[in-house]
Amino acid sequence: MAETEPRTTDSVTMDKIVSLCRRRGFVFPSSEIYGGLGSAYDYGHYGVLAKNNVKARWLEAMVQERDDIVALDSSIILNPSVWEASGHLEGFSDPLVDCRTCKLRFRADKLEDAQCGRKPSKHPGETKDCDLTEPRQFNLMLSTKLGAVEDTGSTAYLRPETAQGIFVNFKNVLQLARRKPPFGIAQVGKSFRNEITPGNFLFRTREFEQMEMEYFVPPDEADEWYRYWIDQRFNWYTRYGLRENHLRVRPHDPDELSHYSSATSDIEYLFPIGWSELEGIANRGDFGLTQHTNHSATKLEYVDSATGERYTPHVIEPAGGADRALLAFLVDAYDEEIVADRQRTVLRLHPQIAPVKAAVLPLIGRHEQMVATARALYEELRRRHAVEYDDSGAIGRRYRRQDEIGTPFAFTIDEQTLEDDTVTIRDRDSLAQERLPLSSVAGYLDEALERPWKTPKPD
Ligand code: ATP
Repeated sequence: MAETEPRTTDSVTMDKIVSLCRRRGFVFPSSEIYGGLGSAYDYGHYGVLAKNNVKARWLEAMVQERDDIVALDSSIILNPSVWEASGHLEGFSDPLVDCRTCKLRFRADKLEDAQCGRKPSKHPGETKDCDLTEPRQFNLMLSTKLGAVEDTGSTAYLRPETAQGIFVNFKNVLQLARRKPPFGIAQVGKSFRNEITPGNFLFRTREFEQMEMEYFVPPDEADEWYRYWIDQRFNWYTRYGLRENHLRVRPHDPDELSHYSSATSDIEYLFPIGWSELEGIANRGDFGLTQHTNHSATKLEYVDSATGERYTPHVIEPAGGADRALLAFLVDAYDEEIVADRQRTVLRLHPQIAPVKAAVLPLIGRHEQMVATARALYEELRRRHAVEYDDSGAIGRRYRRQDEIGTPFAFTIDEQTLEDDTVTIRDRDSLAQERLPLSSVAGYLDEALERPWKTPKPD
């Protein structure tokens, strides 16, 4: 884990990330032709591919590479009793203050992150005109009405976390399949929160995707598994390229803990906005299962049929966000350098996260034979990987375009290819070029994508 902490991030700013995402079609502001909707975003082609890669790497690490975790995809709208039992109706709230002068509303615990409505250089409460109310609790759940009749009985909620969908399926997954703790259920899916101060691009939005896993353990093993999952999750981020000294683990103070948690640690990343949560790992005790047992009259417990031993498992929960993780990968990858007197912007993404794995480029886009050879190679590679074919414009410009979307490899078909069946391979990070037989390109790419990768960016 990090031994030294840099005091600032590199030259990366959130504005540069937002602008690259827009320019290259990763992420657009939502409903823009109607003036947008604050802090809502739409993912374009490369954004979809990159976020899918983040979720796929998470599922691989959590489900595919393990014997003890299975996947689940539960509903976004659950029976409202679920939220009563879980404590969200009562306790899932942020403290809010209103300013009677500028009529804006702020999170009472985040005033130092907010701007005064009249004087943006000041924080709310800092000028003599500020007139803040006492804090009030504001529930973050988004509600909706089900069916045609609008009465109070039809109120339902869009889930603010995916975890409860897992708890209510405990019996289906663990009891019916006779699984024995320690055992986990993993879920990736959308969650919704009526955030009061959304912002900082993908970092805090009202609609976002979570990657959550509930790990059910014997009560006396809870602490050990809590520590185990902090390490596992920290290592996942470094495995996919985040610089270790831009990551840290921060245990929560007792007064920060959620209503269900006996211990929580955040994995934080040094975003351009400072150290901020990427993922939380919580020791949730038996709160969830006990609450649902009491409210639903269905006993959610583990029973050993051989020995008769029975207990309510405790739960360790690593809960991360796919959008927030993608933002961290983009920030960590963004780099600018001068190459041959020209500025190059490059996303040094881990090849397993990069939206496009390789580009196939005929040197001369109008050369029939080069185009035919390049198309044939492209057809071969696209069967296994997300690759792109591009024959438009000067080759330097095409390389730059691929650099900006983080494509780790480019294969160029030129005159020499037509003579000796070799192609040039260009490495995004080192800019090194070498020649390779055309017939070995597919094997080379398969192997190169599996190799461990470390960013060349300085710590
Ligand atoms: P924060 O303190 O930043 O509001 P949280 O502690 O409320 O986060 P959790 O309830 O632990 O967040 O949710 C788990 C993860 O879901 C977070 O670590 C984050 O990655 C993601 N997440 C939560 N809220 C949002 C949001 N509004 N926008 C994007 N991602 C979010």
